Amino acid sequence: MMARRLFLFAVLVAALVAASVWFADRPGLVTVHWQGWRVDTSVPVLLVALLTFMVVMALLWRLLSTVVAAPGRFLSRRRESRRQRGYAALSDGLAAVAVGDRRRAGKLAKQADKLLADTALTGLLTAQAAELSGDEAEAEKRLSGMVERPQTALLGLKGLLTLAKRRGDTAAALDYARRAWALGSPAADLAADLFDLQARAGQWVEAEATLDEARKRRALPPEDIRHRQALTQFERSVQAERDGDPASALSLALKAHQSDLTLAAVAARASRLLHRAGKERKAAAVLVSTWQVAAHPALVEAWLALAPAETPLQRVKRLEKLVKANPDAPDGHVALAEAALAAKLWGEARNHLELACRQRPSAAIFILLARLEREEHQNEAAAQAWMAKVVTAPAEPAWHCAACGKPADLWASTCPACGTLDSLWWGQQTQALLPAPGQAAEKG
Ligand SMILES: [Zn+2]
Repeated sequence: MMARRLFLFAVLVAALVAASVWFADRPGLVTVHWQGWRVDTSVPVLLVALLTFMVVMALLWRLLSTVVAAPGRFLSRRRESRRQRGYAALSDGLAAVAVGDRRRAGKLAKQADKLLADTALTGLLTAQAAELSGDEAEAEKRLSGMVERPQTALLGLKGLLTLAKRRGDTAAALDYARRAWALGSPAADLAADLFDLQARAGQWVEAEATLDEARKRRALPPEDIRHRQALTQFERSVQAERDGDPASALSLALKAHQSDLTLAAVAARASRLLHRAGKERKAAAVLVSTWQVAAHPALVEAWLALAPAETPLQRVKRLEKLVKANPDAPDGHVALAEAALAAKLWGEARNHLELACRQRPSAAIFILLARLEREEHQNEAAAQAWMAKVVTAPAEPAWHCAACGKPADLWASTCPACGTLDSLWWGQQTQALLPAPGQAAEKG
């Protein structure tokens, strides 16, 4: 670099010297007349004067343009710094929202809003900060603003959906969920929300369409989709039977059973409708297939309903077929013991009661054991000993709602107490899950 500059300088000096020598060798005079003025000078002096004038003009021009551009440069630097501070406030604010720091989130949201002056960018933060501080009206306003922009519409609708769900406005929630789903999102929570809202509104056909779309978008795991499908087909079967269409009721019940083999109420329904249609063998097969994977007393009840007029001995024989399909199920042994008691098959009754007692002791089993002592040996003392154990026996399994904790007599796709979809579970309610006596009294 240095060498090149030195070389250029040398060339320039040489050129100047050559030009000076050239002009010195060729002297001449110049006379300028202008407005009564007269200037006499030599050509080299005129050239030097011209050159000096040009250099001065160039310097002046440069100075002037610097002065003129200064405010603009100052403003753009200031804008840049504002933007950077705005983005910092935005990201810090979102971090504050994530950890639930309400105060800091609100402060940073205001800052970002002021510094960035672009509501599309700050909408999410300001909406979430407003939500955190409980200002739902402001949050809703901000989220609605986001809905108008295609890039943030999904985020806005999901936020509005959350707000609507929180205040229990299911109609508005369903509307937001539907609009958000229409944008083509593959979000699992959105698919589940829309399905739940449609199901709660009794729109089972629409709910099933949501599941079909969720399968295409891979929004939900396949087994989850099949389970939800069983719920919709079950409900549609109930509706068809109510509408006086037994053929559709049966085909929907069978579809529901195929979708989820573990639902006892679904299998019981399919079996009952098959029995009514005269398809005895299939009615029994449906119950056995569910009994093998998820034994349940409702299946025993449905099994007994297939032959209501049979003798006690016939009943024992037929029940044995079901029990054999899943010998680990205590409910099968209890049912068989009860049938054996009725048929006065004491030994068989005792066998099955002892098996059931080992698998899952319960009040019902103790009562049957007491009955056995009375009926077989007329042993009242032994019977009383079993009856004494009933009081402290573990609670019988029953349907309970996972959402509200209330018990339910029968399985249903939605909790009869609180309306939550698919919340009923079968089992022994533990003490920890029961409401405290004080609370129960308050509610009562
Ligand atoms: Zn409930």
